[in-house]
Amino acid sequence: MKKKSRKFIFIVGGVLSGVGKGITTASLGYILSSKGYHVTAMKIDPYINVDAGTMNPTEHGEVFVTNDGDETDQDMGNYERFLDNDLTSVNYMTTGRVYLSVIEKERSMKYGGHCVQVVPHIPEEIIGRIKRAAEVNNAEITIIEIGGTVGEYENILFLEAARMMKLQNPDNVAFVLVSYLPVPRHLGEMKTKPTQHASRALNQAGIQADLIIARGEMDLDKPRREKLAVFCGVDKEYCVSAPDVPSIYQIPLKLEEQGVGDKLLARLKLQKRVSNMKSWKKFVRNFQQAQKPVRIAVVGKYFGTGNYTLADSYISVIEAIKHAAWTNNRKPELSWIDAEEFERNRARVSQLSRYDGVLVPGGFGSRGIEGIIQAIKFVREKKIPYLGLCYGMQLACIEFARHVLEKKSANTKEVDARTPYPIIIANSTQAKNIQEKKYGATMRLGAYDCTIKKGTKTFNAYQTTVTSERHRHRYEFNNLFREEMEAAGLAMVGINQTNDLVEIVELKNHPFFIGTQFHPEFKSRPMRPHPLFREFVKTAIANQ
Ligand code: GLN
Repeated sequence: MKKKSRKFIFIVGGVLSGVGKGITTASLGYILSSKGYHVTAMKIDPYINVDAGTMNPTEHGEVFVTNDGDETDQDMGNYERFLDNDLTSVNYMTTGRVYLSVIEKERSMKYGGHCVQVVPHIPEEIIGRIKRAAEVNNAEITIIEIGGTVGEYENILFLEAARMMKLQNPDNVAFVLVSYLPVPRHLGEMKTKPTQHASRALNQAGIQADLIIARGEMDLDKPRREKLAVFCGVDKEYCVSAPDVPSIYQIPLKLEEQGVGDKLLARLKLQKRVSNMKSWKKFVRNFQQAQKPVRIAVVGKYFGTGNYTLADSYISVIEAIKHAAWTNNRKPELSWIDAEEFERNRARVSQLSRYDGVLVPGGFGSRGIEGIIQAIKFVREKKIPYLGLCYGMQLACIEFARHVLEKKSANTKEVDARTPYPIIIANSTQAKNIQEKKYGATMRLGAYDCTIKKGTKTFNAYQTTVTSERHRHRYEFNNLFREEMEAAGLAMVGINQTNDLVEIVELKNHPFFIGTQFHPEFKSRPMRPHPLFREFVKTAIANQ
C-alpha cells in the first residue's frame, strides 16, 4: 500500500501580533480533528532563547510546561486545550534551539567537513524538526504556527523553510495568513490595506497565502472580501471572517460555519469530511447560559506592563478557573489583585472578603511576597476558599509557620538565604545549579507522580490515590518541618514517593485550603476541568 503523505499547514501573521494566531491554530486543529483527521500543532518562536523558561512572564506571557518538561510558549497550552492532546518538546521550536543543534552537529563533524551555512543548513534543520514532530505525533496534518508577523527579519528563515517544503510537495503544504483589519474610529470603515501589505510581504518571501483569516472587530463584508481577494490573490471564498467574539471557545464554531475545514482539506488534496462538533457546541451553549457569577480573586505579581494590566502571564490558570466555573454552571468573574497593594496598605487585604475564593498562582523572587502572605493569612483565618499553586503552596506553608507555629522569621531560602526557619529550601542539586548560575531548563520540570492520602478533600476531588502533574520549581518543602506542621493542622496529603517530596498541603478545619507544588492548571481541559479547580470553585460557590 502506498504510504500516505503527511500534510502541513503553516499559520503566519500579518500587520500586528497578538490578534489570535495561536487560537486560530488551535481552532483549525480542533476543526480538522473533529473531521476525524489526526492532527498535531507546533509552535515556532523566532527568538534566540532556547526555551521560554528564562523569560520574564510580563514580557513573554505564561511559560507552558509539557509533560516531558519543556518550558514552552503559552500557545502550546491553547493547542493542548483545543486538541485535547498532550504535546511534547518536539512540538516546540525556537531560533535558539535550531542554531544550537546546528552548531552542536557541526562541532561533532555531522556535516562531514562541509562549510555550514545559514542557508541551507538552518532551514533544513527547521524542516527536519517539523517532519519529526509530524512523525512522533503520527499526525496526518501538522499545523505550524510561525510566531511574529511576516516582514520581520526574525522569522524569515522559518518562512524560507516553509517555502522549501511547499516547493518539494505543493499538495502537502498550505498557508494561512491571519491578519488584522482595523476599523479606524474616525473613518468607521474596515480597512484592507494593511493586510494587502502583509500579503505582499509574504509574497516577497516566495509564499502565497491559500486562505486569509480576517481578524477584526466585525465580519468581512462583500466589498472588503472582494478587495482582499483581488489584491492578495486569494479566492473570495478563501477570505474568512474572524470577528471578535466573547469567548475563544466560540472561534472554532465561527470558522467552521464558513467551511474553513473543508477548504483547507481541498487545498491539501485530502477528502472533505463532515465535522462532529456536537460536544463542543453543547459546551459553548452551556457556558453561555451560565449567568450567576462566581467571584475569584487572583493575587499575583505579573500583571503590569506600563499602564496596562496583562493577564497573559497566568493564561492557563484563567482558563482552568473558567472550565471549573462552567462545569459548576457559573459565570466566572476574575479579579486581578497586585500583591504589592497589600504591602503598601495592609488594611486592604480585608477587600478579599468580597470574593468567593482566592487563588495564588506561581511566581519567583521576593517582590510582592509579603503582600501574598498577608492575603493567605486573611483567607486562612476568614475561611475563604483558597487554592495555592506552586509559589502559592510554598507561601501558604510559610504563612502557617509564621502565624500558627509562631516562627516569625520563617521564609523560603529563595527570598531569605539565612532564615532560621527555612520552610522552603533548594536541594543540593538545585543549590549547585543556583551557585553555578545554571538557570536554563534546570528546574524540576514536567510530570511526576503524586500519591494522595485517602480521607482528604484532595482525595475527594481526585477520586484516586495516584496522579501525575506537571512541575516547574527549583525550591521545595523542607521535610524537617513536616511533623510540626501536620500536628498543628496543615496536612501533607500529596507526596512524591520517589523523593519523599511534599506535593500537596491541605488545611484541616477549613472549607477549602489546598496548596500544590505542581501546576494543575496545565492539565485542565474545557470539557474536563481539573478536579482541584472544580472543587475549589464548587466550595467557593457554596461559600457565597
Ligand atoms: N519560586 C518557586 C520555586 O522556584 C516557585 C516556582 C513557581 O511558582 N513556579 O520553587
